[in-house]
Amino acid sequence: MRGLRKSGVMALVLVLVIALSACAKNGNSGGNGGSGDGGGAASPSASGQAKSDDKIKIGFSLDTLQEERWQKDRDLFKAAAEKLGATVDVQAANSDDAKQIAQAESLISQGVDVLVVVPHNAEATAAIVEKAHEAGIKVLAYDRLIKNSDVDLYVSFDNEKVGEMQAEAIVAKAPKGKYVYIGGSEADNNAHLFKQGAMNVLQKYIDSGDIQIVYDQWTKDWSPAAALANMENALTANNNQIDAVIAANDGTAGGVIQALTAQGLAGKIPVSGQDAELAAAQRIVEGTQTMTVYKPIKSLAEKAAELAIQLAKGEEIKTDKTVNNGKIDVPSVLLEPIAVTKDNIDETIIADGFHSKEDVYKNVK
Ligand code: BGC
Repeated sequence: MRGLRKSGVMALVLVLVIALSACAKNGNSGGNGGSGDGGGAASPSASGQAKSDDKIKIGFSLDTLQEERWQKDRDLFKAAAEKLGATVDVQAANSDDAKQIAQAESLISQGVDVLVVVPHNAEATAAIVEKAHEAGIKVLAYDRLIKNSDVDLYVSFDNEKVGEMQAEAIVAKAPKGKYVYIGGSEADNNAHLFKQGAMNVLQKYIDSGDIQIVYDQWTKDWSPAAALANMENALTANNNQIDAVIAANDGTAGGVIQALTAQGLAGKIPVSGQDAELAAAQRIVEGTQTMTVYKPIKSLAEKAAELAIQLAKGEEIKTDKTVNNGKIDVPSVLLEPIAVTKDNIDETIIADGFHSKEDVYKNVK
């Protein structure tokens, strides 16, 4: 009897200790919905205590390093965070959802102070936010939104505008005719925003009958090889009678242009892109790609590093915008993209030092 009572008391004490430590841990992962009327705020830690003793540890979980840009993101983010006195542990998941979640879990258990995530899958990564919050760690969605989650902050570019810029540049070259849309990865929220932006511009031409979209496909994992196969299908299905292609990024544009080259059509059909990759910049000056969208990654990386550290310290972050992710209005910072064609390539990506003039014009005699 006595033994039973004693173990009952012990169990109660244990429950209390667990409950108390859970409270303490969850203290800085509380509600964070934006106001929804133009501004947002990531909430500070409940303790209000800034963490200033040891170095802030940032876990940076990337979907992939496939596109040239992500290597820049990794390097620039790391440099910016280190300059601010933090350390960064980088993981890349090779477009594998389970791997990205496992890597994030491992960063959480290693005790990072904040997680910065480029999600492969906008929905699946909600699990990362949940796990991080259970451990009292905040999450910043980098470049791509994490949907249906309580993610604390979203730092990206105005992605709908990216899509608008792509369509505007292509419509300027081909105001009428048969269009192919080669989208991004369906699992990436950005791919939907790029398409929405393109449709904002195209809809009136479609309604008037001037433009017909004869082929419209997502590209699995943004793979250039998949884009090439899709473009081959589009050409075959339409007896090569295509007037314009909106490709969602430079990687997919590369696949599209390869398919066009095989049919002797490269340079004859306008093609869009995005990212200002070196290969795309070269194609633009050579005349096989019409445009790209330059997104100054240094600004994104620096802003994200600064805000991630503030999140880690439990400081309140106020943003001008919020973006609804299906669950909450996420406090958001959206930077401006820049449309680049042959006409302004020197004043944009070259002037900015994103690529050297020598590299861009390498193949032009
Ligand atoms: C990014 C693009 C990138 C694409 C493929 C998108 O979410 O915004 O810049 O080209 O992913 O990685």
